Amino acid sequence: MPDGVRTYRKHDSFVALKQRTPLPDPKPRLQALLERGGDRGLDARKAQLARRAARELLGLERPDQAEPFQLHANVQEELARLDDSELPRYLFYRYRYETYPQRKLLDAWPPCVQIEPTSACNFRCVFCYQTDAEFTRKSNGHMGMMSLDLFKEIVDQIKGEVEAVTLASRGEPLICPDLERMLAYAGGKFLALKINTNASLLTEAKCHAILASGPSTVVFSADAASEPAYSRLRVGGSLEKVLANVRMFAEIKARRYPRSRAITRVSGVKVEGSGNLGQMERLWGDFVDQVAFVSYNPWENAYTAAPTGVEAPCSDLWRRLFVWWDGRVNPCDVDFKSTLSVGSFKSSEIPELWRSEAYERLRADHLEKKRSGLPLCSRCAVI
Ligand code: SF4
Repeated sequence: MPDGVRTYRKHDSFVALKQRTPLPDPKPRLQALLERGGDRGLDARKAQLARRAARELLGLERPDQAEPFQLHANVQEELARLDDSELPRYLFYRYRYETYPQRKLLDAWPPCVQIEPTSACNFRCVFCYQTDAEFTRKSNGHMGMMSLDLFKEIVDQIKGEVEAVTLASRGEPLICPDLERMLAYAGGKFLALKINTNASLLTEAKCHAILASGPSTVVFSADAASEPAYSRLRVGGSLEKVLANVRMFAEIKARRYPRSRAITRVSGVKVEGSGNLGQMERLWGDFVDQVAFVSYNPWENAYTAAPTGVEAPCSDLWRRLFVWWDGRVNPCDVDFKSTLSVGSFKSSEIPELWRSEAYERLRADHLEKKRSGLPLCSRCAVI
């Protein structure tokens, strides 16, 4: 990479993360897993990968010419909340999620699927593509809500093969009128079910729907710890309202779901005007398990930014697949207008789409250092 080229490291996008709970050392559990062979119930290939993941983490095996598998602090916390019996499944997923993008490996299923309940949002955050009128204008066809039937079809197809499902992409998921039914349907089917929300539309019923679905992570987006900084960044939002809602969520979780393993996180985009981590922790720290900032990526001008000069391949092409509200499948959400779409879930299954000609061509272009010739990827800093 030439000097001075700005990159957005997707596999490690936290610029700061503070966790409330001290993390136990996972090594004794991994050692025990190898000793007792606790991967019954997984097919041979999954069990073998789970064991390799444990061996790399324990330093018993080193990959050729690649970084060994590691657990970031937030992942260690997720792992700490799982039962021993779930560890192999989790390791199978997380190993592929972390190392396949780095080693440029693929198999039949994406390590993670993001499902978009809606593309609409009630905020117009200054760093977000929701500020692009071409995107939000209804007549341009980008706005809509996923039907419950389509959601169920996606879940039925990927359950048992994909463990990481995030309910969010371009819009605010709580706007979707079927979200509570979607959560109820997805509940118990994925080890790493995550939802991202700006928390402005949380109600008691929605808190219950989220918690009852057994998510591994619930992310509340907020970038500042005081006004007017918050509403200058989160245009359309109110810090007072969001704070009250996050507090309500924390109270319901503590009172009604004491055994919930959901990790709650307030996560902000680190831009000029956002708070510092100390301020964020003082405001949010009593209500959530983690407070974090992620790097800013200029999502709002993805199609018009100057070329970045980044030559390295985009890791997300080996990590996750997005299903938009209307079934269209996209390799990323930097491409919020779906110019890179590889097809539709309505006409093809996920494995076909994941290994489709269009997807493989895009990956090959990245590997062959042809990124500068791609209209959007040349302007994007994601690696
Ligand atoms: S625009 Fe291209 S480089 Fe950027 S995230 Fe999407 S696929 Fe990756």
